[in-house]
Parts: sequence; structure tokens; C-alpha cells
Amino acid sequence: MAAPAYLELPSTGFEQGVTDIQRDILQLSRQFAADVMRPNGAILDRMTPEEVIGEGSLYWTTLLRYKELGFNVAAFAAIPLAEAADAKAMIYEELGWGDSGLAIAIGAGALPHTMAARWGRLDLLEAFPDTMLGCWGITEPVAGSDMLDWTREAGHPQADYSRPSLVATLKGDQVILNGQKAAWVSNGTTAQFCTLFTTFDRGQGREGVNIYVPLDLPGISRGKPLDKMGQRALPQGEIFFDNVAVPTRLIAAGPERYADAVYDILCEANAGMGACFVGVARAAYEHALAYAHERKQGGVPIIRHQNVRYRLFHMLRKIEAARALARRVFRFNDLSGTRALQASIASKITGTQTAFEVANEALQMFGGNGMTCAYPLEKLLRDARASLIEDGCNEMLAIKGGSLLVDTSLL
Ligand SMILES: Cc1cc2nc3c(=O)[nH]c(=O)nc-3n(C[C@H](O)[C@H](O)[C@H](O)COP(=O)(O)OP(=O)(O)OC[C@H]3O[C@@H](n4cnc5c(N)ncnc54)[C@H](O)[C@@H]3O)c2cc1C
Repeated sequence: MAAPAYLELPSTGFEQGVTDIQRDILQLSRQFAADVMRPNGAILDRMTPEEVIGEGSLYWTTLLRYKELGFNVAAFAAIPLAEAADAKAMIYEELGWGDSGLAIAIGAGALPHTMAARWGRLDLLEAFPDTMLGCWGITEPVAGSDMLDWTREAGHPQADYSRPSLVATLKGDQVILNGQKAAWVSNGTTAQFCTLFTTFDRGQGREGVNIYVPLDLPGISRGKPLDKMGQRALPQGEIFFDNVAVPTRLIAAGPERYADAVYDILCEANAGMGACFVGVARAAYEHALAYAHERKQGGVPIIRHQNVRYRLFHMLRKIEAARALARRVFRFNDLSGTRALQASIASKITGTQTAFEVANEALQMFGGNGMTCAYPLEKLLRDARASLIEDGCNEMLAIKGGSLLVDTSLL
């Protein structure tokens, strides 16, 4: 009788056993990352932000090709929870390995569907089927970190939040939106709908509302696509709202549930980031390992230097630790019936910090070649750098994560 997959002798000692379904998913996503995402991401990286979102660009074809893989809410619902949780973390890692900008475009595009499914909102899933591209609009010009920290664990006690950039008001059975979201909204220039998190002014103090907004409504306009240093395949830009009327039935969370909704979506997004940037770190490590075998100095491959092996080992060690944490957090969030933001934050910080450190070390291993655009390291380092800010600056997230550990009776 064949040994169960998890008992097979691993080749590195770090492998996690995979089920048949997971093996298929892994193979599909790995191939997609290698054949589609990596080459397309490298080309998009050299384009202007306007070219990236141009009709028929590789950004669009990559999103379409990803849909064909069938990795959607319904498919994951059809397999056992634990298998699905691991598989999702594996997919995010592979996508990040391929190209983190495109990975985030895919992840942010699907985030509203995922949240609607988590909250059992079949009406929202029907109104915004997963053939539509989504985005998550929460940060604002006047409140980047602060919008992600709605419950103010990290906020400064003297900070003034009385002038938000975007305000929702109620008029009959419609929510009226006026203002704008930050230039950072992933897919902000391209998405067809937005899960919008914003201040709700009902004359009852500081309140928030999460509402699903079709982005073709009258009064909505988009900003100029953002030109930035990393994750250039990911389009970002402002969304402006001028007296935009959205039916109240599209509210996903009113003021009573708003803080929970922010908590939930940050849990989901931070966990995805953690797994995705393990993929970026792995890509950098693989390049460094191969280069160390190929590059000769004084006639010997540089891998023969002890210090080179030492550095490679620390890269590998960090990646394996980040991956183990990322998968554990996916499992907890999907299986436990509750969610732990401090765990998702830990995974996000660990994955992104690992990606940055490993990409930096890998670039160093390439010597002067690492600096040139002919080699992949400079792009990986730029992509990893953005991740330390994305989905919440790591410093603010750490303060928030730490605050969630405090026994409030001691305060
Ligand atoms: C690649 C990328 C993708 C993104 N995608 C999205 C998206 O899809 N949707 C969206 O809405 N936003 C998105 N963002 C925005 C992102 O969440 C914000 O950039 C981030 O939350 C920081 O906000 P900010 O840029 O306004 O910086 P600020 O909040 O102005 O922070 C500036 C500095 O001050 C520090 N700081 C601020 N407040 C605190 C605090 N309370 N405690 C300690 N330090 C603090 C920060 O750590 C940082 O170093 C994205 C950003 C990037 C880079």
C-alpha cells in the first residue's frame, strides 16, 4: 500500500504533505505563475501606468487567463475546509512568485467576493458576480493608516478625524457619497465595483459604513493611474464621488457592524499578503541559489564560498518560517469559526519583511549584476519594498497587533 502523501520522505525536510486536490491546484497555479504571470509582469513593469491599463494589455489578459483556472469562491466551497485553506495559501504564494503586482490585482479584484461569501451575503454575490473586477477602497488622502485602524488602537489621542476625505450620508433608501479615496486603491482605475469603507454622517458622531458600489454610477470619476517604484503591473488610482447615490440594500455593514467589517477584511487581506510575499521571497532565493552556482570568480563558482552558503541558508530559513506561519493563519481563519487579526498581521509583517530582506540579500549576491535591469533582482526588491506599506504600514500594524494582546483590565 502506498504511503500517505504526508509520510513521503521530503526532499528538503520542509515540505508539507499535499492531498491530490492540492497537488492539482499547486501544479495549475505554479504553471500559470511561470508561463503567464512572470513574463507578463516583467513586460508590464517597463510600461507606463497608462499602457498597463490600456485596452487588451497584458494586465487584462492575465486577469482573464486567471479566471479560466476556476479558483473561485464556489470551487473552494466544494472542497473540505482544511484542504481549501492550505490550497488558498499555496495559490497566493505561487501568484506572488510569478509577479506580486499582478497577484495583488487578482487578490484585490476578488476580495469583495470573498468578503460577501464570508458574511453570507448571497445578494451581493449575485449583484457582483465574480466575472466583475472588484477593488477595496478604504484609505484616504487625510487618513491612510488611520482608516485601517478604525478602533484606534494605534491612533494618536490628539488626532483630529473630523474632516474625512469621503463622507456618506443617508437620503431615503439611498446612501449619498461625496469625496474621494486615496490614489492607492488597487485596481482603482480599472475595477467595475468597489467594497467601500467610509465615514457615515448620520449626525450621531463618528460612524462608518461598508457599502458595495458599482463604479459606473453617475458622479463617479477616476484619477490618473499612479506611477510608482514597485508592483508596477498593479494599477492604482483615486476614485472620486460627486453626489453618488447608492441603494441602501448594497450596504454590507452599517455603523453597528462597521468595526467588525474592517477587522474581517484586514484579517483576510493581511493573511493573503503574508502568503503572497513568501512567493516573492522564494523567487529571489531561487534566483540567488542558481546564480551562486553559475557565477564564477577566480574560476570557482561563488557557492563554494562559505559566506555565500551561510547567506543562502538564512534566506531559506526565513522563507520556510514565513510560509509555515502564513499557512497556519489561513487555517485558523478558515477553520476556527473566528478570526484573529493579530495572527494575520503577524503573517503580513513576516511575509513582507522576509520578501524585502531576502530580495535585498539576493541582489547583493548578484553583485553589480543585481543592480541592472537585465537581471530580475532589482524588480523583486522594488516589488517587495512596496509591500511594507501596502495593506497598512508594518509599523502601524505591529502597534495594532500588539494592542490586541493587551488585557484591557490593566489599562
Ligand atoms: C502597493 C499598495 C497597494 C495598496 N492598495 C490599497 C487598496 O487596495 N485600497 C486602499 O484603500 N489602500 C491601499 N493602499 C494604501 C495603503 O493601505 C496605505 O498606503 C497605508 O495604509 C499607509 O497610509 P499612507 O500611505 O496614507 O501613510 P500614512 O498613514 O501617512 O503614514 C506615513 C508614515 O507614518 C506612520 N504612521 C502613521 N500613522 C501611524 C500610527 N498610528 N502609528 C505609527 N506610525 C504611524 C506610518 O507607519 C508611515 O511610516 C495601498 C498601498 C500600496 C503601497
